[in-house]
Amino acid sequence: MGEQDSVAVIGAGVVGCAIAWSLTREGWPVMLADPAEPGSGGASFGNAGHLGAELVEPLPSPALLFGFWRQLFVFGGALDLPWRRLPQFAPWAWRFAAAAFRQRANTRQFAPLVRPAAAAWERTLREIGSRALLRRNGHHQVWLTPAGARKAAAEARRMERLGVPTAPASPELLRAVARAAGTDTIAGLEFPDTGHVLDPRGVCEALARAAVARGASVRRLRVLELAPCGDRIELRTDAGTLTVSAAIVCAGVWSAPLLAHFGLRAPLEAVRGYHVELPGHAPLADAPVVYMDDDIVVTPLASRLRATSYMEFSVPEAAPDPRKPARLAATLRRLGYRCDSGNSGWVGPRPVLPDYL
Ligand SMILES: Cc1cc2nc3c(=O)[nH]c(=O)nc-3n(C[C@H](O)[C@H](O)[C@H](O)COP(=O)(O)OP(=O)(O)OC[C@H]3O[C@@H](n4cnc5c(N)ncnc54)[C@H](O)[C@@H]3O)c2cc1C
Repeated sequence: MGEQDSVAVIGAGVVGCAIAWSLTREGWPVMLADPAEPGSGGASFGNAGHLGAELVEPLPSPALLFGFWRQLFVFGGALDLPWRRLPQFAPWAWRFAAAAFRQRANTRQFAPLVRPAAAAWERTLREIGSRALLRRNGHHQVWLTPAGARKAAAEARRMERLGVPTAPASPELLRAVARAAGTDTIAGLEFPDTGHVLDPRGVCEALARAAVARGASVRRLRVLELAPCGDRIELRTDAGTLTVSAAIVCAGVWSAPLLAHFGLRAPLEAVRGYHVELPGHAPLADAPVVYMDDDIVVTPLASRLRATSYMEFSVPEAAPDPRKPARLAATLRRLGYRCDSGNSGWVGPRPVLPDYL
């Protein structure tokens, strides 16, 4: 079979790599196209690696809608809104606001997809011989303020209502986190049914390798435009024109322009996050620790810790904001991690739809 019979999977982030693997497993001829190596061109490279099976409620909620200002970067929070391009951002924000009032209905659609996430990843990684990339040790949420115990109890009740199991965090974990941060004030919750991966990029590479082993090809090219061509799809790329039998667009925040030719308008915003890494740093637990007061996740990856934070609405190609990794590093030091101030970190864009569905 030639390329003209292939299904083109456009974008080799975690979504494209997982789709390429699933299609080849079912016997489809696949071409995975990306100008970057699998797992290195977008958000899939730099994420926290948390398999968030507890995130069964889509983010838009009335509480966030009316209280978002408390989380703004200027007030020390993780949220940075695009004030300078407000007119372009307004339609997305309007849809986000509308979704906030449909949170219960949207949760009914979203929860069944998210709840089995950690188990599904375990199954997939085992199938491709890469189970070692996954830990099923859950994760922890911790609060280091006097209001922490009340917030932890409220979060446990919310999770119970949503059918997500939690338990009080173990005294050992709380002692380790409190000792590192130099405080006696701590509260925490454990989420036993989640998990994390040890190398987010490695997961993409493993999926792409498994797809190639079943006959997929990986092409280093950028798709510039897609157009219908009879019962086929023409891909105009930076390496010439290709015709394929079908195309699946998985290009993260860069997907919308590729769909335009088909009259599809994907309301995607780039919500950038940052990470800094602490090579060789010992973890406080063999599971991600979420510092709820600081909006930071610290994940133990292979031979390093990765701390992630921020929801920065920005164009993907904008220059990184140096204040963000600097503040992240300073907070990590306050929490007791060894993190030098020259850690410039990484920034990358989450593809986010306004209703999170
Ligand atoms: C800091 C941070 C922390 C996060 N933490 C978590 C977490 O803990 N758990 C979680 O589940 N999610 C997390 N996320 C979100 C998660 O990383 C993303 O939802 C996910 O990686 C999106 O994958 P993707 O394949 O859709 O997009 P991407 O990973 O962005 O991949 C898109 C790919 O498309 C390619 N591409 C772009 N344009 C073209 C083109 N024209 N032709 C061909 N290829 C193209 C790019 O090179 C890229 O490789 C986090 C995100 C960030 C930024």
